This record gives sequence, structure tokens and C-alpha cells, in this order.
Amino acid sequence: MPESRASGRVVVVGSYVQDHAWFCDTFPQRGETRIAAGFNTGPGGKGFNQAVACHRQRIDTTFIGAIGNDMLGGCARQFAQDENLDAHWQIVRDVPTAASSIVVDARGENRIVVSLGANERLDPLFVRRQCDSVRSMRIVLCQLENSLDTVTAAFDAADACGALRMLNPAPMHPAFDAAILDRINIVTPNETEFALLLQHCEHADIDADELAALDDATLHALVCRLPLRTTVITLGARGCFVSHAQDRRGDAQAYYRIAPEKVRAIDSTGAGDAFSGALAAALLRFDGEPFATAVRHANRVAALSTEAIGTAPAMPTFAHVATRFGDVQKA
Ligand code: ADP
Repeated sequence: MPESRASGRVVVVGSYVQDHAWFCDTFPQRGETRIAAGFNTGPGGKGFNQAVACHRQRIDTTFIGAIGNDMLGGCARQFAQDENLDAHWQIVRDVPTAASSIVVDARGENRIVVSLGANERLDPLFVRRQCDSVRSMRIVLCQLENSLDTVTAAFDAADACGALRMLNPAPMHPAFDAAILDRINIVTPNETEFALLLQHCEHADIDADELAALDDATLHALVCRLPLRTTVITLGARGCFVSHAQDRRGDAQAYYRIAPEKVRAIDSTGAGDAFSGALAAALLRFDGEPFATAVRHANRVAALSTEAIGTAPAMPTFAHVATRFGDVQKA
């Protein structure tokens, strides 16, 4: 496995959220107060998690996001500093740092509510200025926990320097404009987000729980209803599905599945973030190789992330992934 750093930088524009997680045997029922077996708080937010996942794969990474001028914002800055992650913070003075409440059950499944706080005030002009200040930007990765204008600003900056545009369309935004899909090179929804994209853009009602059971050709045909180039649908404990519209990015097949890695999952929160961040990193690390090599690496990083509690702190390092699974190029 190559040890030298890959050239180029991934820029992640997205959210910071302070996670608060309660671990229960089962989810509380309506009206029930359930005693949790444990509690954990730590840094999270889809954007920040993806930046940490990418950075821990030993790829130069920049994070651009917004926090409040408060204690939780201080936690964010401290964690980024301790990680040696290049973080560009917009400090919003009159809005708190975002926070989430996560309940994890004994099977590692989760239910989440989040207040997006300062993330909703991330300024598109701030994003554009910060992106323009970054050298060697090769990939821009966004999610949907900020305003859609910030996503547009980030992709405009990507266009200006010919960088690849990646979108993890999570959570689905009510004002999401299907036109944005035309601009994206790689999109990484989970099953729910893919079903919502189809419903939002094509008015097609698909049951998210049944997607993984569809045969590959049917799933590919569903993906082709959307104006997408390369799509990776993450399927949780069932691995992922890749679908290329035209350019196969070096892959032999237009569509295929990658089986899940065997892990002892205890907390799947943030697995999708591990996947998107690691995929961006792997596209630089395995530049010139088939797309499937990068996807296999992302599949490994995401699987390992479920063995640790928390989101950003649970992201495995490149060395951890190599020790556990060996050389992805020989897989
Ligand atoms: P999200 O967190 O967005 O809901 P998923 O649940 O689809 O994302 O998980 C993202 C990826 O994490 C999967 O595609 C897979 O690679 C990995 N993953 C998640 N859960 C497991 C598991 N129990 N075993 C192995 N891999 C897993």
C-alpha cells in the first residue's frame, strides 16, 4: 500500500455538530423515560465527520464550517487543533453551535434529532473566499446541513479550478433543486436519501427498506432515472451499490455491489460520513486505479468506524484500516 502522501487536497464544506449520544437496550416508546446504559458527547456533524475521516486517511484536508461563539464552538476548535486538521471557522456571534441528540440501541441502530444552529448561517461568501484561498484543491465534498447557497458557492469554487464535485445528499433538503445534480460528479446517498431523491426529483415512490433487496439491474435502472454521473448508494450492514451513467471511472462494469466487511458493529452513527470522507481521500490516494478500489477502501473505513463509539472520534486511521484488512489494491 503506498505510504507517501497523495498529491492534492480535499475541501469539505459542511456542518459541525456537537453530538450527545445515549446508549439504550431498546429505543424509548412514546411517553416512556428510558434509563440509558451510557452517555457520550463529542464532535460530529456530517461535514466535520467527513473531513476527519478524510484527514485520517493521510490526505491533505481542509474543513470549512460555522460555529457559535460558545463552549461547544470551543470544543470544535480544540478537536480540530488536536487533530492537526486545517479548519476554517466562521464564528457566528448570535447563534449557538449546533447540537444533536442520538439514541443508540443494543443492535447499534440509531435515532437522531439535530438543531443546526450556526450551520444554517454559514455564509456563501465566506465559503467562496476560503475555497479560493486553498491551494491544490482537487475534490470538493458537500452535504446538506447548511444552506443550499453554500453548496452552490463551494461547487462554483470547484468549477473555477477544475476540482471534482462530490455530494452526500444528507439530510434531504426540502428546497433541494434537482438542477444541482447535473453539477455533481459523485453522489453518495444512503437508502433513505436515495429514495427521497427519487421522490423529490422524479415523484417516484420507492420503499427505502426494499432497495437493498432489488436486483442490480433494477437498482441501476432506478439510479438512471436521476441526472447523475456516478452514484454510490450505501446499504448499511449490506455494503454498497455503485452505478455509473456513462464514464465508468476505470471500472469494468457500469454497476455492481461491494459486500460489507465483517466487523463487530457497536455504533453505526456516522458510518455514512466515514464512507463519503474516505471515498474522497481514496480517490486521491488511488488516483488512476479503477473507481472500485477507492470504493472498497471507503467500505472498509466505514465498517471499522462502527466498532467505536461516537462519530468524528470514531473515524479509523489509514494505518488501522491497513492493519485490519491488508492491501486494498490486492483485494
Ligand atoms: P448512514 O450512516 O448514512 O446511514 P449506512 O448505514 O448506509 O450510512 O452505512 C455506510 C457504510 O458503512 C455502508 O455502506 C458500509 O460500508 C458501512 N457499514 C455500516 N454498517 C455496517 C456494518 N454493520 N457492517 C459492515 N459495514 C457497515
